[in-house]
Amino acid sequence: MDETFRAILISRGPDKVQRVDRVELTPADLMDGDVDVRVEATTVNYKDGLAITGKSPVVRRWPMIPGVDLAGTVISSRNPDWTAGDRVVLNGWGVGEVHYGAFAGRARLKGEWLVPLPDAFTPSEAMAIGTAGYTAMLSVMALERAGLTPAAGPAIVTGASGGVGSVAVSLLAKLGWHVIASTGRPEEADYLKGLGAAEIVDRRELSEPGKPLAAERWAAGIDAVGSHTLANVLAGTKRGGAIAACGLAQGMDLPVTVAPFILRGVSLLGIDSVMADKALRLEAWRRLALDLDPAHLASLTTKIGFDDIEAAAHRIVEGGVRGRLVVEMG
Ligand code: NDP
Repeated sequence: MDETFRAILISRGPDKVQRVDRVELTPADLMDGDVDVRVEATTVNYKDGLAITGKSPVVRRWPMIPGVDLAGTVISSRNPDWTAGDRVVLNGWGVGEVHYGAFAGRARLKGEWLVPLPDAFTPSEAMAIGTAGYTAMLSVMALERAGLTPAAGPAIVTGASGGVGSVAVSLLAKLGWHVIASTGRPEEADYLKGLGAAEIVDRRELSEPGKPLAAERWAAGIDAVGSHTLANVLAGTKRGGAIAACGLAQGMDLPVTVAPFILRGVSLLGIDSVMADKALRLEAWRRLALDLDPAHLASLTTKIGFDDIEAAAHRIVEGGVRGRLVVEMG
């Protein structure tokens, strides 16, 4: 008889009401792909929280195994790039949205979606980074491509206690930036300073409707929050600065004027980790191995089990998760 494995399955009936079940599946239940991977570690990202709670339409094929990130070992491959025993990482590509995802003991994927697990990381560490950390790195790289260096002035990180934010604070500090961390959790100030934040600002300073232009406070930024927060971050950006926009924890809207762009030459840099091409992914993972302090990675990680995923998904959309969650599949 075929091996069975645990999975989380999101389904919905004709009434469109969503349900989440823990099920046992066999390889025959998986969707098409040319590489089968034993999932050794995964993580709960904000997007996984949206998928499991149904708060936003992340899932676009029913039923769905959620989970946008995994690290594991190739079991079998019909793709010339991969052989059994290879250790791999998967981030995004619609996995957990339109293709069965990571919250399962086994995943069947397209070989072109996979990158090698960097030697520097265990599967668990790679998932401590996960899409959130890899997105933080993509954001740092976008700021660098825009020509910004720590000499230009401080860098602000919004949603700083979250997954993207925590890794962004650590990376920017290691690269020499004076990091201003914006958080709604003042009790996490010591945690954020431990990751390298030089200053903490209360996110309420940024989350209400603001003026088109404000005092110039930072030269660069990584914004995981969107909405009024991103508008205020842009309004407070120094002449010639740039902000990498990667998230929507406050909202998908952006109530901004063109003033920062046309009066201060500020740039808004869009970050899409899901469909980023392979060369960019490989470069981001190479840089994470170089620029992310392993002690910081440990301090921003909380380990949970497979049975905790659903509760964690609810917690993360309520803004109640600090740093990154790793699910060790056992
Ligand atoms: P987390 O939930 O871990 O972090 C989000 C943080 O945002 C929270 O910890 C909180 O930080 C802050 N926050 C939450 N709610 C609000 C609010 N209403 N107003 C202001 N701040 C708020 O999520 P992730 O770090 O995993 O993801 C962050 C965002 O980035 C999400 O929107 C996610 O969808 C997006 N994302 C986008 C990617 C891309 O490819 N562009 C890839 C990965 C993530 P604090 O308590 O410190 O204020």
